[in-house]
Amino acid sequence: MSTSLETLNPFRIAQDQIAGAVERLGLPSSVYEFLKEPQRVFSVSIPVRMDDGRLQTFVGLRAQHTDVIGPTKGGVRFHPAVDLDEVKALSIWMTFKCAVLGLPYGGAKGGVICDPQLLSAKEMERLARGYIRAIDPVIGPDIDIPAPDINTNSRLMGYMLDEYRSLHGRNAPGVVTGKPLELGGSRGRISATGRGCAIVVREAADRIGLSLKGARVAVQGFGNVGSHVVRSLQALGCKVVAVADIRGGAYNPDGLDIDELARHAAEHGSVAGMPGTENITPEQFFSLDVEILVPAALENQITAPVAAQIRAQIVAEAANGPTTPRAAALLAARGVLVIPDILASAGGVTVSYFEWVQNTMNFYWPEEEVHEKLERMMVSAFNEIWAMRGEHVTTLRDAAYLAGVRRLAAAMSARGWI
Ligand code: NAD
Repeated sequence: MSTSLETLNPFRIAQDQIAGAVERLGLPSSVYEFLKEPQRVFSVSIPVRMDDGRLQTFVGLRAQHTDVIGPTKGGVRFHPAVDLDEVKALSIWMTFKCAVLGLPYGGAKGGVICDPQLLSAKEMERLARGYIRAIDPVIGPDIDIPAPDINTNSRLMGYMLDEYRSLHGRNAPGVVTGKPLELGGSRGRISATGRGCAIVVREAADRIGLSLKGARVAVQGFGNVGSHVVRSLQALGCKVVAVADIRGGAYNPDGLDIDELARHAAEHGSVAGMPGTENITPEQFFSLDVEILVPAALENQITAPVAAQIRAQIVAEAANGPTTPRAAALLAARGVLVIPDILASAGGVTVSYFEWVQNTMNFYWPEEEVHEKLERMMVSAFNEIWAMRGEHVTTLRDAAYLAGVRRLAAAMSARGWI
């Protein structure tokens, strides 16, 4: 499948999205000039003592897009393909996610170029601690707040928090979110991105008259986000018929047993090969006859040729940047409703915000309260974007960028920047 004519550079894609919204709202070009590049980008080296005694240096990155609304915030990704343009793009998308949800943050993103599959648990811990030592001068609860992303989790956030405590000689739980509960994490954080995605799928289905009872779902990615999307959609009555991960896919038209799937994935490192399911390729996965498709893995998974095969009525982008611009245009032309990443994957940062607020108060909420607040904020953001879509006769993605740019431009104006 050739994708040679498509723009796959996520940073270029993010810049184009801002430019389009600024132009459409008739805002001064200075708004674009302020937003087109991250305010600060750092590249750091992280020397790590490996288990065999060798010293190995890894490259870490952090992009802080804009602090016009508040401190910057965003996850840290451990992946071999991390690069500067990816981190810059992800920091921009975080800014928009926060703006769409009305959170008092700007966006940031970090990454370490490494292959976690080749690292032991102890090496991962040293890498996480080394990353915090390296970026320590530019983070803090009211400066920039890291969180989990691909291949990072609450355990690593705990090590990062502990490293910050060692460096500063005091506890500052609000410097990292997605932490273990014992260190000031929030109840409901781990499932938040998946749960938030299911909430907006429910709202979108309601608007287009699609019943979720028995609606067939396919989810790409069975990590932190994908596994919780699967459970949350199942709780809404959907039938999850396919799940794919980096090693393959499991398909059963009668529906998958999710507990069994989770057990199989934990034991074998992949959903592929689960007994009673058909092993499917990525091509087969995207062309399945389903009502709802959820990419919850990486960027650029839905290219134009893939989009042409999609049969779903709703595509909910739980991953960041999973659809290329050409694919997005194709899906729009075919009448597929795409819930954009800056809305569909915003549940995680929303509960990270709740976590930070609880850290500030030193008063912790029960899980039900977190779920209720998340529900309220996701529905309110969805309603705003849905209304904007009607008002501007556009896609949900464009509407979300219009809402985001409008909020950012208002903050710039209030600061006297424009
Ligand atoms: P994760 O590391 O927990 O899981 C990633 C999953 O994607 C794994 O199942 C992996 O096998 C699968 N995968 C990777 N490459 C693949 C490929 N080429 N084909 C099919 N499957 C593939 O990561 P995560 O935290 O679940 O993040 C997934 C996506 O969601 C990313 O785009 C991330 O930026 C985004 N996101 C994460 C959070 C969060 O809170 N963790 C919040 C918002 C958005």
